[in-house]
Amino acid sequence: MKLYNPADASLLATLAEDCAATVRDKAAAARRGQLRWAKVPLVRRKAALARFGALVAKDKAQLALTLTRETGKPLTQSLNELNALPGRLAFFLDHADEALRTERVRGGDTAEEVSHEPLGVVANISAWNYPWFVGSNVFIPALLMGNAVLYKPSEHAALTGLAITLLLWKAGVPRDAFIPVMGAGMAGAALLEADIDAVFFTGSVATGKKVAEAASRRLIKVQLELGGKDPAYVAGDADPAKAGPALAEGAFYNNGQSCCAVERIYVHARVYDRFLEHFLAAVKGYALGEPMDPHTFLGPLAREEQIPILEAQVKDAIRKGARLLFGGGRLARPGFWFAPTVFDRCSHSMTLMREESFGPVIGIMKVSSDAQAVGLMNDSDYGLTAAVFSKSRTRAERILSQVDAGSVYWNCCDRVSPFLPWSGRRNSGLGLTLSKAGIKAFLRPKAWHLRRP
Ligand code: NDP
Repeated sequence: MKLYNPADASLLATLAEDCAATVRDKAAAARRGQLRWAKVPLVRRKAALARFGALVAKDKAQLALTLTRETGKPLTQSLNELNALPGRLAFFLDHADEALRTERVRGGDTAEEVSHEPLGVVANISAWNYPWFVGSNVFIPALLMGNAVLYKPSEHAALTGLAITLLLWKAGVPRDAFIPVMGAGMAGAALLEADIDAVFFTGSVATGKKVAEAASRRLIKVQLELGGKDPAYVAGDADPAKAGPALAEGAFYNNGQSCCAVERIYVHARVYDRFLEHFLAAVKGYALGEPMDPHTFLGPLAREEQIPILEAQVKDAIRKGARLLFGGGRLARPGFWFAPTVFDRCSHSMTLMREESFGPVIGIMKVSSDAQAVGLMNDSDYGLTAAVFSKSRTRAERILSQVDAGSVYWNCCDRVSPFLPWSGRRNSGLGLTLSKAGIKAFLRPKAWHLRRP
């Protein structure tokens, strides 16, 4: 498996890939490891994960460099991701005991209780865009709850995947309770055929459907965190000076390669021109350049395969009458670079407004009422997040309660909290991570009927 640096397309590393036979062997080892790991008292499992957090904090400068080298994510954004990990870890540690506690739900002659047991061997197939987040949202609670994890990082974040593995082992998680599976899609597909009890997948809709099909053949639990085409609405009473830069950041942070990136914007006619002015000023102010430079906000794309998809969206938008306000294509330099690109006068006949871009391209549309904005926000195959900018909370809540999305934002966007469930609707996914429910997702209930003799 060859890894390339997206900033200049140079070869970064060559790694050995797993094959079906090695994946089967790893699954067998995880099966044995899980039985032992589940017997380790929770207090010791928690201590191991807490040590992992401390080791990550100690090595974060080096870990950020690795992530930037393999994904092209600007260094400051790699560090942001690492800096946010302790908050998530603390949430999982603080709520682990509660999740595992047996509940006595009924007394009387036949008492009724619910206990909670681990799922067993969990496959964690992860995306490259936020490996420290999307992976740790799964493997930390999975391990805490007593599962073994077969962790398949994306080939585009394989070095980070290996770093995570080494730090978990160093922290005291046994080598057969957390096992990396290395390789591209074939390794992921082999993992789905191995002896696993559940699969937690983060990635594209197309691969997610393949994962769901494989899981349905095996009748194992499947959870999918998939793509988005997340809308934002700037209402007529919003402050364009605040909404403009906030939505520019929501659209262009990590070069638009966030599942919850803002991908389409609807703006009320009353504030339209002023919004455009502030939005464009923010985009034009972003420093584009070497991802290792701490001043850089926009680096290269992580994957070259995304460039033709963006080019096709740009061509389609221009052909159908959109106005190109900024950017518009690939940059002439080695590596996988695409200019931040802004269109307005868009319509829902354009792929730019319907299909996930997953890159630095945004479409804007003028609307004349809240009702029209709601209709357009819901006119999508996706349902991950949606945002409303307005001075009025009542108005924002009225609009957002009509929008079919797993997370909704008032005067903010592109935000994830460990305290809240992270879930997608329609093509954006099945199940959830984070929140107390996202810890319980790694447990199976057992119902106890206890009659006195
Ligand atoms: P992909 O679907 O390409 O890959 C996801 C993972 O699946 C990778 O580890 C990949 O391996 C693996 N894989 C590929 N083919 C198969 C297969 N046939 N069977 C099993 N596993 C396979 O997605 P990306 O990594 O490109 O991630 C980007 C996508 O993830 C975007 O759509 C984004 O919106 C979504 N995402 C969603 C999130 C959410 O919370 N809803 C969070 C983050 C991202 P490899 O990469 O090595 O080929």
